Amino acid sequence: MSDRYAVIGNPIAHSKSPAIHAAFARQTRQDLIYDRILGDPADFAGEVSRFMAAGGLGLNVTVPFKEQAWALANERSSRAELAGAVNTLIRLADGRLRGDNTDGVGLVRDLADNHGFDFEDARVLLLGAGGAARGVLRPLLEAGLKRLVIANRTAIKAQELAALGVTCGPVNGCGLNELAGERFDLIINATSAGLADAVPPIPDDCLIAGGWIYDMLYGDAPTAFQRWGLDHGAAQALDGLGMLVEQAAESFHLWRDVRPDTAPVIALLRHPR
Ligand code: NDP
Repeated sequence: MSDRYAVIGNPIAHSKSPAIHAAFARQTRQDLIYDRILGDPADFAGEVSRFMAAGGLGLNVTVPFKEQAWALANERSSRAELAGAVNTLIRLADGRLRGDNTDGVGLVRDLADNHGFDFEDARVLLLGAGGAARGVLRPLLEAGLKRLVIANRTAIKAQELAALGVTCGPVNGCGLNELAGERFDLIINATSAGLADAVPPIPDDCLIAGGWIYDMLYGDAPTAFQRWGLDHGAAQALDGLGMLVEQAAESFHLWRDVRPDTAPVIALLRHPR
């Protein structure tokens, strides 16, 4: 019988994870089944327990269950610990659950490995202080950057997030309205403003000429923040599709101890045949 995995979230119909993991499994000749589960917000722990009891070996966890998955895990990686959220559950040999968070490593790999961004000495601005920003904090700070500024519409949340990350690297938190005079090599958008085709209000000159823009959002067309980047002299204006595939590849590696080649899978998602 094939090994079983799934992604659980609510809503879940839109999830690209089944297609991504099916492509990884084909490529690496792994015999596995990967389903999607529409989670019940009132019974997340029960759903996970039933899936694992039926032979499930691991789950990807998405909105709105990442914090519940964190609480459910019997043990957690240090990056999940700081994230306060788990996007990957692994059933251990003794039946206990290990929680990890692969979003941050997905972001860093997409930028550094797929696109050649050099984090060494980079000044990076992270916009937003919600779940996505917190999820990437530790891997970002460990990537070797010179300075990270977290800026959020609600300043106190950025300050609190920076205080959490300060043991991992050089980070400050502030309001979006406190960025005057600052210059960054890379600006990462981890806000949900793009869902309404909006851009967080930041100074026109806070990206250096030839700097990079990364929007965690992705879609069929360039996002509002990618368009902002191109209008403001960005050399690269990337969306979050690569991050999605890279975080999935890291989960796949945790489960199967095999690392898939992500480039053909990103290409497949961008240009479905
Ligand atoms: P949350 O709801 O947890 O946080 C939303 C954040 O956006 C808050 O910091 C909020 O500020 C800010 N925000 C919302 N609207 C605006 C606005 N109009 N102007 C400025 N700031 C705004 O969401 P998540 O952190 O979970 O998700 C954020 C984005 O990241 C989503 O678009 C999601 O799709 C994407 N994402 C992509 C992933 C990938 O693999 N590519 C993985 C995870 C997330 P405030 O605190 O003031 O309310």
